Amino acid sequence: MPIFLNSEVFGIILTDNIFNLRVIQADELRGLTGVANLASIALERALLYRRLKEMAQVDGLTGVFNRRYYERYLHDEFIRSKRLQRALAMIVFDIDFFKRCNDTYGHECGDRVLRQFAQVLKSNTREEDMVARYGGEEFVVLLTGEGSGRDALTAGEKLRKIVQETAFADFEPGKITVSGGVGIVRPDEDFEQLFKRADQALYEAKRQGRNRVVLFGED
Ligand code: GH3
Ligand code: MG
Ligand code: MG
Repeated sequence: MPIFLNSEVFGIILTDNIFNLRVIQADELRGLTGVANLASIALERALLYRRLKEMAQVDGLTGVFNRRYYERYLHDEFIRSKRLQRALAMIVFDIDFFKRCNDTYGHECGDRVLRQFAQVLKSNTREEDMVARYGGEEFVVLLTGEGSGRDALTAGEKLRKIVQETAFADFEPGKITVSGGVGIVRPDEDFEQLFKRADQALYEAKRQGRNRVVLFGED
């Protein structure tokens, strides 16, 4: 019995009479129509729910998590880190002179750079690290496994270097660069400081001339 979804066969219900092995007659199968219809409705709702959930969590342009999801995730991560008595590290990245890239080569080119940069971050961080688009051309990476600011700085520096060596859109390698700020909070500190520290370090990286990653407190 086919299960239809939007006039297309989405699945089938396979029946077998193992009760007394009698061959199932066509008119007996008709009773299954109701089951197939119910399955179709349930499937449609489940798929819709999955899509809505994804839309609420993922940034439409780049495919990484959006700011809303990042904020909720961070909140949960704060609680977990306090309980486990471990530090939490964050890198905030901002593309250098991105406005110029948009103004000179167009918005579409800028969008391609954004998508590619998000991909670089995703592909070069660990599964348990969280990458999100904070807004515009700013991205955050939350590192839960880093023991010290130095570890996070090493991770940030690695990413910065990969960006420098990557050809983005129609640009040659080295044309698109990023600056990063690293913040870390130990379990006995105020976790609210995490983003502020990373953001302040990013500001310092820009001030020092861009295309660099700065660790908060070491500028
Ligand atoms: P800096 O090195 O100081 O970071 O300079 P900047 O030019 O990158 O900084 P600024 O904040 O002035 O520019 C950010 C630009 O990002 C401005 C805006 O047009 C662009 N932008 C934000 N969101 C998007 C987007 O979704 N697509 C594209 N193409 N551009 C975006
Ligand atoms: Mg910016
Ligand atoms: Mg920028």
